[in-house]
Amino acid sequence: MRPALDHLGRGDVRAWLTEQDPAALDLLWQRADEVRRERVGDEVRLRGLVEVTNYCVRQCAYCGIAACAGPLPRYRMTHDEILACARQGRDLGFGTIVLQGGEDPGLTGAFVAGVVRAVKEETGAAITLSLGERSDTDLRAWREAGADRYLLRFETTDAALFRRIHPDLPGTVSDRIGQLLRMREMGYEIGTGVMVGIPGQTWDTLADDIWAFRHYDMDMVGIGPYLPGSRTPLAGPLGAELAAPPSEQVSNDELTTLKAVALTRLICPDTNIPGTTALSVLDPAAGRANALCRGANVIMPNLTPPQYRVLYEIYPGKAAAHETADALAEKVFALIGGLGRTVGTGAGGRSS
Ligand code: SAM
Repeated sequence: MRPALDHLGRGDVRAWLTEQDPAALDLLWQRADEVRRERVGDEVRLRGLVEVTNYCVRQCAYCGIAACAGPLPRYRMTHDEILACARQGRDLGFGTIVLQGGEDPGLTGAFVAGVVRAVKEETGAAITLSLGERSDTDLRAWREAGADRYLLRFETTDAALFRRIHPDLPGTVSDRIGQLLRMREMGYEIGTGVMVGIPGQTWDTLADDIWAFRHYDMDMVGIGPYLPGSRTPLAGPLGAELAAPPSEQVSNDELTTLKAVALTRLICPDTNIPGTTALSVLDPAAGRANALCRGANVIMPNLTPPQYRVLYEIYPGKAAAHETADALAEKVFALIGGLGRTVGTGAGGRSS
């Protein structure tokens, strides 16, 4: 029997994830698109992404800029360089600037607070930070400086798997959900997400992940395929060790990612959901458009200067690493127009 599409339970989410019948999946896509239109409208909200540093102290087994990912030229953008990117985002009409990077203690609390203040003052844009696990002192200072939102993917609800792919730093225990909930108390809108198809992720785990987005009432949810990078431990023996039996292991393909996007729209109807860059690496021609037609309502055009963008290789083949920000934005505007959707104006938060 076909699983329900309205009032989805956890079991329905699990069943839809493995649904293969194209006619049934058409119903899922249609319903996700309807709910997207009813709840968040036809606007595609644009967030200009600035990848401010590729230094990272973490040893995440999946990530191409982790400390363990082998020799890699490292960069940290200056205050003025970040501000120039933010201005470019403002000139392109983006209502949000996202400052993302590795977990980099060299990016001090005071430096980030100064950048946030300057970006806010010059652009008036909403500011999203995505700088990993930081102290409450830093997070509070950044909020006071004007940061509006914070992205921190919990990566998986399977605690044992999380510890294997995201080792703790010495003397600390990683608690990403805890940090997200504290940030909500500080007044941030909070965003999270997962990769689809990491070795060891079962269909049950992914259903639990999607269920957790609703349980914690996340304001934003980013879902992209896991893309193995040859320099990372998860692409080698660790991945083979962690992989679930074939019938239980989630595949890291476009179809499964799109199912997770559509189901997230159905169970978190008014959350902001991006069509992720990782999806457009799997399917450069149609990945983002497919996501926008199956529940997504956000795109994050890249504003990072090309000489740094090529070094922010968190996974291989990161889309359009050599194109200018203006050229990338043009493509995004054309994509949105081609789908009959409109370009979002304003901050585009969950509540604005
Ligand atoms: N350092 C911050 C953090 O950890 O939240 C932000 C940057 S981190 C590179 C952003 C996200 O990239 C991660 O949360 C992870 O889900 C995603 N990512 C990293 N490696 C990936 C891979 N190999 N395939 C797909 N996504 C990946």
